[in-house]
Amino acid sequence: PGTLHVVATPIGNLGDLSPRALDTLRAVAAICAEDTRHTRQLLAHYGVERPLVALHEHNEEQLAERLVARLLGGESLALVSDAGTPLVSDPGFRLVRAARAAGVAVSPVPGACAFVAALSVAGLPSDRLAFEGFLPAKAGARRERLAPLASETRTLAFYESAHRIEETLSDMGTVFGGDRRVVVARELTKLFETVLDGALDDVRARIAADPNQRKGEFVVLVQGAADDADARIAEGKRLYAKLGEHLP
Ligand code: SAM
Repeated sequence: PGTLHVVATPIGNLGDLSPRALDTLRAVAAICAEDTRHTRQLLAHYGVERPLVALHEHNEEQLAERLVARLLGGESLALVSDAGTPLVSDPGFRLVRAARAAGVAVSPVPGACAFVAALSVAGLPSDRLAFEGFLPAKAGARRERLAPLASETRTLAFYESAHRIEETLSDMGTVFGGDRRVVVARELTKLFETVLDGALDDVRARIAADPNQRKGEFVVLVQGAADDADARIAEGKRLYAKLGEHLP
């Protein structure tokens, strides 16, 4: 059988497409793309001409079977999304699952991913992370999603679009407290790349005051809730000492 290559594409700067990604895209029988017009532009930039197959949320389930049949028949395929790494808040999960279930090799060509890029420059604890993707669009559902995260001690990562960034930061202030540290990474790798950091209230005010800061694409990283690890360790020591009193 062929191989399904899952290929990351740039999140802005076209220079971030790796040489191996290009070689792979040139070599496959067809490229499955979220938006074929968008991908055609990327390929045209590099002079790559391969057949494209539109694969999106609405047709992925049905298409997966046909694509797996092609893979089993010996063709290799590539999967890309509009930006960054496929399956990360993007289509591809059903196809990858179906390919793996059929015993087809699925191989990554890694590259850009917006939340990883943001994390790498945020200066927030990066040893443990909870990626939450997009929050619900409706205010009620959004706050419901945020509420249980208030006590999460891992750094939190969210994706957000320009038209909801203010509302989202405002809800986060309400749920997490206005002094929680946040990093808002906008337009990474692009001309107007900006990384704002500070207390939630403060960053929200800076974005509210400047319409330019509300344009583009955003990653929002929120520092986790203060860890009470010290308190837990102290309690553990106390119990251990107490236990010791009862041992021979
Ligand atoms: N698959 C992509 C990845 O690997 O990051 C994510 C796709 S998701 C549909 C698009 C969201 O990713 C945007 O709404 C934004 O939150 C984030 N994003 C993508 N490119 C970005 C960039 N250059 N700067 C900041 N955030 C970006």
